[in-house]
Amino acid sequence: MDVDRPSTWKKFTSDEVCHSCVASCCTMPVEVTLTDLIRLNLVTEDEVQNMGIRKVAKKLVKEKWISTYREGTGLFMLTQKANRDCIFLDTRTRRCTNYQLRPDVCRQFPSIGPRPGFCPYIKNG
Ligand code: SF4
Repeated sequence: MDVDRPSTWKKFTSDEVCHSCVASCCTMPVEVTLTDLIRLNLVTEDEVQNMGIRKVAKKLVKEKWISTYREGTGLFMLTQKANRDCIFLDTRTRRCTNYQLRPDVCRQFPSIGPRPGFCPYIKNG
């Protein structure tokens, strides 16, 4: 199984499989919306109003929450750690540290994604 090659992914059967996985889906690049960032408490609606989206993006890059902002799509890329883990993934437990507030794209995966209905399952241990 290769995370970068969706053709090698496994068919996703139910959330049950997530309990025994190393969270390899959380090592893939994650693009999020401004609504996601507000829900994650990384920025407030007031800050967006007062600073404008470009300055907000600059601030979030500086704080290392996001790596890039694409004006064309209005999407922000969450920062990945050196080992590719999402900034919110607990390296040891392999669980999201912000699960209740996680971005929409994480909630919808793998219904949406590079290969809908399939995921890069890697057994933990
Ligand atoms: S926000 Fe949470 S669920 Fe989404 S990729 Fe990061 S660790 Fe995984």
